Formats: sequence, C-alpha cells, structure tokens
Amino acid sequence: MMLSIRNPANNGLIKELPEDRPQLIAEKFANGRAAQKAWAATPLKKRIECLQRFRALIADRMEQLVKTLTSEVGKPIRQARNELNGLLPRIDFFCDQVEAAIRHEPYVTQGETHEWITHEPLGVIANISAWNYPYFVGGNVFVPALLTGNSVLYKPSEFATLTGLAIGALLHLAGVPKDVFQVIVGGGAAGAALLDQPINGVFFTGSYATGKRIAESVAGRMVKLQLELGGKDPMYVCDDVNVDNAAANTADGAFYNAGQSCCSVERIYVHSKIYNDFVDAFVHEVENFKVGDPMDEKTYIGPVTRDAQLDLLERQVADAKAKGARVLHGSRRIPGPGNFFEPTVLTNVNHTMDVMREESFGPIVGIQKVKSDEEALMLMNDTHYGLTAGVFTADQSRAEKILAQVNSGAAYWNCCDHVSPNLPWSGVGHSGVGLTLSVYGIQTFCRPRAWHLRAPS
Ligand code: NAD
Repeated sequence: MMLSIRNPANNGLIKELPEDRPQLIAEKFANGRAAQKAWAATPLKKRIECLQRFRALIADRMEQLVKTLTSEVGKPIRQARNELNGLLPRIDFFCDQVEAAIRHEPYVTQGETHEWITHEPLGVIANISAWNYPYFVGGNVFVPALLTGNSVLYKPSEFATLTGLAIGALLHLAGVPKDVFQVIVGGGAAGAALLDQPINGVFFTGSYATGKRIAESVAGRMVKLQLELGGKDPMYVCDDVNVDNAAANTADGAFYNAGQSCCSVERIYVHSKIYNDFVDAFVHEVENFKVGDPMDEKTYIGPVTRDAQLDLLERQVADAKAKGARVLHGSRRIPGPGNFFEPTVLTNVNHTMDVMREESFGPIVGIQKVKSDEEALMLMNDTHYGLTAGVFTADQSRAEKILAQVNSGAAYWNCCDHVSPNLPWSGVGHSGVGLTLSVYGIQTFCRPRAWHLRAPS
C-alpha cells in the first residue's frame, strides 16, 4: 500500500511512500533486538554525545525541517520554528540529567547484605506518535529512551511521516546506529503490526480511542505501557483578574496551533462579575488572529491537519447551536482548497453539549458563565479527561485551593498550554497513564532492578 502525504493547506500531494508491511516491521524488530545490547553497553558519555550531535544538526538544518513540518502538518511556520527551538532545551535537559537519573549506586547496607538498585534499559520499545507536535511528543520518548540504552522503533503519525524520516536520518548522522533507531512508515495498520512484535515497552501518544485499542491489544503481554492521550482542558477565570491579560492568554491557549494541542484550552469558565468584559476582550483577540497560508510568517491559524476533523467541528457547532449556544465568532469551514475552519467562539454553552465534553482538537472554544469558585470547580471536574487545568486569578492561594481539588496531570496558575522539561507530563482518566519529561520521564525507560549482595562468610 502507498501512503499519500498531502499538504493540509491546499490538499496537494507532496509525496507517495510505500507503507511498511508486517514482514518488514518484523525484520526491523529483529534488527533492533540484535543491536540493543551493544548500544546499552556503549558508554553513556558516547550516547550523550550522539544526542548532542543530533541537537546540533537540528539547529543547523532548522529552516529546512521547519518547512517540511509546515508543509505536511499545516502548522504556521512561526509555530513550527517555536517547536524546533523548544526541542533543543529538552534535549539539553535529558543529556544533563540522565547520568544522575540512572546512576547505579550502593543504596544501603543491611547487616552483611549490600543492597543496590540498577536501572536496566527496557530493551526494544515501540514509540507510536501523534502528528501535532512530532518533535516534542516524539522527542519526549526517543531521546531519553536512546540515552538509557534502548532500541527504538519509531512510528510517526502518517500525517508527519516526512518529519519522522528526517528525525531518523539526523539521528543516524549523529551516530545512533541505524538498527537502534528505526522509523516505521505507515498508519494504524503499521502501528498494529508493530505491536504484534515481542517488544518490551509501548509508548503511545494519540487519541483516547486509539489508546484504548492499544491497551486492549497488549493486555496480558505484561509489557510496560504508557499512554499520553487527549484532553478537554478547562480554564477558570476569576473575578479579580486583569481581564485583557486573561483574555489574551486564554485565547492563545485555545487557538495556538489551531487548537490542535493536547493541552489546548478547550473550555473556559468565567466568573459572572467579569463575564461580559471577558467575552468582549476574548472575541476582540480572536478577531485579530490572522488565518491563512501556514507558510506566511504572519499567519497565526493555519489549516487543521486532518480533513476528517472538519466534520467533527461542524458536528460540535451544530449540536451546540441546537441546544442553545450563541456563536460570537466563526463556526464554519472556510471554502476552497485546504482544511480551514474559522476560529470559533461559542457562549451560552453547557455540559449537555459535545463541545464542552468531547475533545474538539480544532479552533473552537466554549465560554460558560459561573457564579462561584465552587461551581467552576464542579464543572472543571465534570469530564472523563484530566490532562491540564488552569485558573486565572490575582490571588495565588485562591488558585492553589481550587487547583488542589481538580483532577488533572498539570495545574496552571495564570498560564496555560505550557510544558516544561523539568516537570512530569501526564494525565489522569481518559488522558492516559504513565508520564514523560522530568527525571521520572528518564527513569521510565528503565527497569529498576534489585540487588541483594552478601560476601561469602
Ligand atoms: P491517533 O490516535 O489517531 O493516532 C496516533 C498514532 O496511533 C498514529 O501514529 C497512528 O498511526 C497510530 N495508530 C492508529 N491506530 C492504531 C492501532 N490500531 N495500533 C497502533 N497504532 C495505531 O491520534 P492523532 O490524531 O495522531 O493525535 C491526536 C491526539 O493525540 C489527540 O487526542 C491529542 O490530544 C493527543 N495527544 C496527546 C498528547 C499528550 O501528551 N497527552 C500529545 C499530543 C497529542
């Protein structure tokens, strides 16, 4: 089968590539297995040097990589550049922290027994990835997985294949052996065939629906499984904020990358005392977003990557309108070539509407009026998801009190749609299990092994 790679800004064909068949995937697995032990035995210093060379190559070839990303994913070029620039400190973080994170040290001496913990690589891992931030969500896995001595079978999304192949070529150029990092080309069928191999860990980023299918398919295999899934992330705007500042920040959190971030703000609750002012300021922000050609440096909102998402956005708008929502901006697909949808702001929304309950993953947001912190908290927690949640308020203790009671992997005070390499990235509920980033996101690619050592008496 051939994989057609299309530009979502004009639907033009960029390239056709053969998808990897199960037989080739099995061969890649065998190669990865054969190469892993030597890679794990390579001194850590040399593995770090490889990833540092990879970083330097990314920095050197940034403009070419940015153009590839924008052409196949539709990400506005300045945001594509932000992603590549954001990858560099993540690589630095992993390279700086890996030695301490996996150091083999005597832990404690109990009488005559020495107790040690070693951090053993898992072996061969599957890294099945999403297209929306291929450098971030891919790099959060393959960089620490390689540093800790694993072989990686990396299946980029079929919507970010050229970027995935570019990553593979640069890692090889940087000195990572070709069988230690291999790219699997293809869509869901290739991902499923990869999971048929006797891999030692599954690290998946994508939707809840696919994550659930993957969890079911590897159940009983007793391999490590991490699922970084979708979200329906809430933001609560209290009555004591600087309204213009809160509106600008939340609008950016909702519409950056055309709302196609796992941690996009997807629902906003606003205290009734400032509701009208906030909505006016928010709509003003959205009116000023430049929608159009993602190659244009001035564009803020490009196309959505998958054309099927346009149908979902239309369905959410129709459902919300039928249940009484008001459209304050946008609401329609933009005619012509390309997968463009107007940035859409809905008010008069409530939790009977899909737009407040199901992941939209597009340029659309609902704003709901609330009377109190208690009501906001109740609504924030009324979800199957739990990736991030935020509160805008002048009062830190008020924010901490609310956020302590919200069920989410990340908590934001006066910020949103933000990821730091120092902090774990994880979700609860339908947002997934396991984590990436932080020191824990290095150790997660290892198996802690217990050693009980007693000298002969
Ligand atoms: P998706 O679930 O459609 O696809 C993800 C990956 O799974 C792709 O590589 C796809 O080819 C593969 N796949 C599909 N079916 C498969 C199967 N049966 N077996 C194995 N692999 C299979 O998701 P997407 O559209 O690529 O990404 C968007 C989703 O990812 C959103 O829900 C978003 O919120 C989520 N996401 C989450 C995070 C996070 O960190 N939590 C980060 C980015 C994106």
